[in-house]
Amino acid sequence: MNDIKLHPAVDNGVNAGSDRFSGGTLHCHCAANRVEVTVNAQCQHNHLCGCTKCWKPSGAIFSQAAVVPRDALSVTANEDKLQVVDPAATIQRHACQDCGVHMYGRIEDTTHPFHGLDFIHTELSDDPGWAAPEFAAFTSSIIEAGTKPEEMDAIRARLKALGLEPYDCLSPPLMDAIATHVAKSKGIL
Ligand SMILES: [Zn+2]
Ligand SMILES: [Zn+2]
Repeated sequence: MNDIKLHPAVDNGVNAGSDRFSGGTLHCHCAANRVEVTVNAQCQHNHLCGCTKCWKPSGAIFSQAAVVPRDALSVTANEDKLQVVDPAATIQRHACQDCGVHMYGRIEDTTHPFHGLDFIHTELSDDPGWAAPEFAAFTSSIIEAGTKPEEMDAIRARLKALGLEPYDCLSPPLMDAIATHVAKSKGIL
């Protein structure tokens, strides 16, 4: 079972975060002139993501993504190296043009349920204490990136063994938050 590599941040077990942690810096993979992003907040909803859009470290079949308040995030070095991967996408993923690492994802649509939250990959930070991943989102989508369907049972079992419940969309609290936002915007709630 342990020969299944999901993501380097969890393959040797999930490290608990720190309640006293209040942020840190993220760096791209360039050897020099690294893009630096500073976050002045603990992350929320950290999770593995199986979609094909999120950035993954090489060899990983899931990405690891979390959100932080947009106001808590700033680019503090080499911002000129960043470029939006797909300007038409809902999440504007700002990637280093040299190494390809996605430094943060931002939603500019003010009506979107997650507007005001930026997506980050906490493994880009050397600071210990980031909140641990809690679940796996869009698990079935890893097939779209090349995982064989017959491997899914073992992958879901490995996720469960790590305490990362596999979902094929987002987690129930996040799906509820999206539906609540939609219901409120329509005047139903
Ligand atoms: Zn870079
Ligand atoms: Zn994703």
